[in-house]
Amino acid sequence: MGNRGLEDLIPLVNRLQDAFSSIGQACNLDLPQIAVVGGQSAGKSSVLENFVGRDFLPRGSGIVTRRPLVLQLINATAEWAEFLHCKGKKFTDFDEVRQEIEAETDRVTGANKGISPVPINLRVYSPHVLNLTLIDLPGITKVPVGDQPADIEQQIRDMIMQFITRESCLILAVTPANTDLANSDALKLAKDVDSQGLRTIGVITKLDLMDEGTDARDVLENKLLPLRRGYIGVVNRSQKDIDGKKDIKAALEAERKFFLSHPAYRHMADKMGTPRLQKVLNQQLTNHIRDTLPAFRSKLQSQLLALDKEAEEYRGYRPDDPSRKTKQLLQMVQQFSVDFEKRIEGSGDQVDTVELSGGAKINRIFHERFPFELVKNRFNKVHVILVSNRKKTFHHLFPFIFVGFRTGLFTPDMAFEAIVKKQIIKLKEPCVKCVDMVIQELINTVRQCSNKLECFPRLREETERIVTSHIRDRESRAKDQVLLLIDIQLSYINTNHEDFIGFVIRKGWLTINNISIMKGGAKEYWFVLTAESLSWFKDDETYQY
Ligand code: GDP
Ligand code: MG
Repeated sequence: MGNRGLEDLIPLVNRLQDAFSSIGQACNLDLPQIAVVGGQSAGKSSVLENFVGRDFLPRGSGIVTRRPLVLQLINATAEWAEFLHCKGKKFTDFDEVRQEIEAETDRVTGANKGISPVPINLRVYSPHVLNLTLIDLPGITKVPVGDQPADIEQQIRDMIMQFITRESCLILAVTPANTDLANSDALKLAKDVDSQGLRTIGVITKLDLMDEGTDARDVLENKLLPLRRGYIGVVNRSQKDIDGKKDIKAALEAERKFFLSHPAYRHMADKMGTPRLQKVLNQQLTNHIRDTLPAFRSKLQSQLLALDKEAEEYRGYRPDDPSRKTKQLLQMVQQFSVDFEKRIEGSGDQVDTVELSGGAKINRIFHERFPFELVKNRFNKVHVILVSNRKKTFHHLFPFIFVGFRTGLFTPDMAFEAIVKKQIIKLKEPCVKCVDMVIQELINTVRQCSNKLECFPRLREETERIVTSHIRDRESRAKDQVLLLIDIQLSYINTNHEDFIGFVIRKGWLTINNISIMKGGAKEYWFVLTAESLSWFKDDETYQY
C-alpha cells in the first residue's frame, strides 16, 4: 500500500467490497467492516440516519431491515447516493433512496417479510459524513408476525452471526438505555463471538427516555460491562420528533445540549453524541483496517496465486489430453446448452413462474401477438370497390367508387390485384416484427442461461457472444426468407386456387355480390372488394378509368 495515507484506507476497502459483491460468493474474503446489531427498535436506523443527516432508511413496525444494507459513507463536496445494483444512477432525493431500498428488499425476499442474507450496497456521498462503512442488519426479534416463518428469530440470528463471527468485523452493539443493560440483545450476541469485548463498540441510545433519577453514567464510563473500545451515548429523534418532521440538524443540536446540561454526563459531554460516535468509528475502522491489512493482504495474495494456478489449468486445453478442469469447463458449456433447451421447452427447474419467458413467450408471440399485429391496422378504413366484368352499370350511380372492368369471369383484374397486393405488402411489417420479438426473447434466454457462468466472466462473455452472433445470423436469414415468401405471393395472385374462394371470400375480404344480371344474353358479375384506401386508388393514374 506504499505511501497511501491512512485516510484512503476506507475508500480502498470500499472498492474491494464492491468488487467482491459483483463477483458473488466465489471470493469470500473477510473485509474489515462494522456491523450494526441490536434489538428491534433499539435505534440502529436512527444512528445511521444521523450520520448521514438524512432520512433515508425504511421505517415501520416489525422487521423493516430484511437484507443486510452495506452503507458506504464517503466524504465528498456534493451530496448524492448510489446503489451498486443500479450503478450510475445518481439519487439526490433521499425519499427515493428509501423507496429503492424497499423495492430492492422485496425483489429478493418477496413481499411476505422474509429475510435474505444477500446485501444491498448503498453509497452515500456527502460533505457531512466521514468515510465509514457500516452494515445495517435486521433487528433481533422475538415474535414472528404475519406469515413470517416460525424460526425467524433463528434466521436473523444466523444472518447476524455470519457477519459478526468474522474476526475482521467490528460490532456496533446498539442498546437502548431504557431497558435492562444486562439483558441487551446486542451485547449478549457480541459476547458470544467476542467474549473479551475486543472488537465491540457499545452505543447507548434513548438516554433521554430513562426514568427520572436514573442514568447510564456507569455504563458510559465503561465500568459496568467493560468493553475495550468503550461506550458512546447518543440521543436520537423520538418517534414524535420524526412524525413532526424535526430535521436532523436540529436533532443533533438538541443532542449536544442534552449532554452539556445533564448532570450525569456533563463531565464527559465531549465524548458523547452522534458526531463523536461518527469520528470514533471512522478512526477505529481505519485503525482496524491498518491492523488487519497485512493478514488480509497475504490472504488475498495466496488466493490470487491459487486462482492463477486454476486459470492456468483451464487454459491448458488439449483435445487429446482433456484434464479434469477442462472437462469441468466443457461441462459448464454443455450445461448452458441444456439450460437453453429447457427454457425453450419449458421443462425442468428453469420455469419462471412470475413472468412468461423462453419457449412459452415465443409461443405466445406466434399465437397471440403475431395474429394481433396482423389484423391491427388492416381494416381501419373500409371502402368498397366494385369490380365487374362490365363497367357501365353502377359507374354513373357511384362515381366515387372505383369500378374496374375486365371481360371474363374473374381473370386477373388490375384493380383487384392492386388492392390485394397492397394488403399483401402490409404483411411485411408484422412478419418482420414477429421475427424481432422472437429474436429478442432468444437473446434474453441466452442471458438468463449464461448467468450460471458468472464466476467465469470471460467464458460467459465469449459464450454469449458466439451464441448471440449465431442468433443474429439466423435472424437476417429468417427475415430474408419471410420477405421472399411475401414477394412470391405478390408476384402472382392465383384466383383459381380453391383457397381463394374458400379463404379470401369467406373471411369477408372479398364478397361476390351475386348480382348477375342477364343483359342481352350476357351475364354481368359484380365483385365487391373491401379494402381500405379508395383515395389512394383514385390518385393512382394507372387506374383512371
Ligand atoms: P431500529 O429498529 O433499531 O432501527 O430503531 P429505530 O431507529 O427505527 O428507532 C425505533 C424508535 O425509537 C423510533 O420511533 C425512534 O424515533 C425511537 N428512538 C430511537 N432512538 C431514540 C432516542 O435516542 N431517543 C428517543 N426518544 N427515541 C429514540
Ligand atoms: Mg431499523
